[in-house]
Amino acid sequence: MKVVDHINNAKKTLFSFEILPPLKGQSMQAIIDTIEPLMEFKPPFVDVTYHREEYMYKKRQDGLLEKVTIRKRPGTVGICAAIINRFKIDAVPHIICGGFSKDETEDALIDLDFLGIDNVLVLRGDPIKSEGAFVADPNGHRYASELLEQVINMNNGRYLHEETEGNHTNFCIGVAGYPEKHFEAPNLSTDIRHLKRKVEMGAQYIVTQMFFDNNEFFAFEKKCREEGITVPIIPGLKPITSVRQMTALPRSFFINLPNDLVNELEKCKDNKAAKAVGIEWCINQSKELMASGVPVLHYYTMSRAESVKDIASALF
Ligand code: FAD
Repeated sequence: MKVVDHINNAKKTLFSFEILPPLKGQSMQAIIDTIEPLMEFKPPFVDVTYHREEYMYKKRQDGLLEKVTIRKRPGTVGICAAIINRFKIDAVPHIICGGFSKDETEDALIDLDFLGIDNVLVLRGDPIKSEGAFVADPNGHRYASELLEQVINMNNGRYLHEETEGNHTNFCIGVAGYPEKHFEAPNLSTDIRHLKRKVEMGAQYIVTQMFFDNNEFFAFEKKCREEGITVPIIPGLKPITSVRQMTALPRSFFINLPNDLVNELEKCKDNKAAKAVGIEWCINQSKELMASGVPVLHYYTMSRAESVKDIASALF
């Protein structure tokens, strides 16, 4: 079922979760162990991220450069199929521009369609560490909007090298939004202009980057509505679970932590204390967002269920 239909049919705020594929060589059990304890909150869908291979070039003894893979998280498509099969809920794969040619994207989307997957979250993808700035595949897409256009074309029966009046895809498409603006955007207005273009093209809902100050979300939502964006905006939430995340999250995700939260975290002597602060903060954020009428609370689990379970238990 489509995410927008879940939202339209809902009588109260829904809970959804994002999980990461395990690192190459690890087992699917980690995914099951993350989702299973969260099933009691009746998530209508679970998102599964997609990650490009992280690699670097090392100098060999003969002086030539050798490509060495540092980290790989394959399996997004298979995990989505397994989730549908085991938990009987929808799985939303993230599809990205980086690392894919248009033909490879088309093949992946055909596979997803054949597996009965009704939704995709369309993204540009993060630059990998060795790249610095995002580099598009020479035969791929530079922006999420270009990838979006390809998915919409397929929904309309227009494939890359042919058209079909027969079976074609029918994906419900989500895109990303950034309450504190995307790190490359010169300002929030420009970023929202690009977001609006994606919605005008056919994106049916927006999921936001994590934020820790609800005022940032409310201001973003208001600005989106003023710009004429009417689709559901789903807030993305991540509970802080360690002292280190106080500095790591702003660095990795280009977001701010409010003073009150930082003050509380600075008092924490260990990760256990920081986790308790993070959970309480996230519960309060969630309560206020629910009261404001958001359709879904979407939690970034980082593939660990415990904190998110504590939060959802306090709300459900
Ligand atoms: P875009 O919409 O392409 O925007 C990128 C930048 O370009 C923005 O600054 C935008 O303002 C600007 N821009 C957009 N269109 C144009 C244009 N036509 N001309 C000029 N500038 C333009 N990354 C992953 O690798 N895997 C994941 O699974 C993943 N999941 C995510 C889930 C969510 C909910 C969010 C919020 C992010 C996720 N990301 C993921 C990170 C995301 O891929 C990065 O933030 C990426 O840098 C931007 O993606 P985007 O889809 O917003 O890009």
